[in-house]
Amino acid sequence: MSDLRDLYQQVILDHNRKPRNFRKVAAANRTAEGYNPLCGDRITLELTVEDGVVKDAAFQGAGCAISKASASMMTASVIGKSEGEVNALFHRVREMLTGANGAAADVGKLAVFAGVREFPSRIKCATLAWHALEAALHGAAEPVSTE
Ligand code: ZN
Repeated sequence: MSDLRDLYQQVILDHNRKPRNFRKVAAANRTAEGYNPLCGDRITLELTVEDGVVKDAAFQGAGCAISKASASMMTASVIGKSEGEVNALFHRVREMLTGANGAAADVGKLAVFAGVREFPSRIKCATLAWHALEAALHGAAEPVSTE
């Protein structure tokens, strides 16, 4: 188990060092700001959604390794998915991170964040990008806060 945990940690650190989709989206038509006051993580998420499909997703901002890695992997995993698929994935990720029963949800590579559940103060770092995603897709006008 500790080998697996090391591997997960390496994946998170790699995404923190070299975040994927850390840029602006040229033709963004959805955007949301996310803020996690507990840790100070801030993210601006931009999406291009066409015909119900997320064509592009990227983020900018500053935060801890977990928030950055989570935004990096979130954007990489939603590009090309329909809004319905993104919604379903959001719920599985949230279940993985906060679910009381500890069920292993089918979240693919995002399983690297499962260990975050053991650190309640960091869960909001991992969910920040996902809350921003929900806000962007559902057109929330106010910046989202994890509080
Ligand atoms: Zn954080």
